[in-house]
Amino acid sequence: MGRKYYCDYCDKRLPAGLNHRKSHNQGIQHINNKRIYYLQFQDPVEILLNERTKKICNKWNQSHSCPFGDNCKYSHRSNYELIQLIEQAKQNLNNQLNFDIHRWIQKKLPSEILLPESLAS
Ligand SMILES: [Zn+2]
Ligand SMILES: [Zn+2]
Repeated sequence: MGRKYYCDYCDKRLPAGLNHRKSHNQGIQHINNKRIYYLQFQDPVEILLNERTKKICNKWNQSHSCPFGDNCKYSHRSNYELIQLIEQAKQNLNNQLNFDIHRWIQKKLPSEILLPESLAS
């Protein structure tokens, strides 16, 4: 019984039932999608500047969970998320400013983050 649940973050229909929903909401994919969804409403440049001063959270890196959640002083962002942010920042900056994004990325991002080839030049 009950209607099917639609997850906006994942753009996906889920079988009815609280248990399906609960286990879906705890899945890594859903959590990632949700974070990426909310990134749309934040200034990517600001996030990148924030993130670059943080070290990668070891707990998060290993298990994708951390008791400190969003209040953790270490970074929970994956390379994939950071690359998305860079892409967004690039677009924003290209539209607004005449700005050397490549230099900015090299300066501002921690060296352990691997850039896609299109950005690494
Ligand atoms: Zn979902
Ligand atoms: Zn953490």
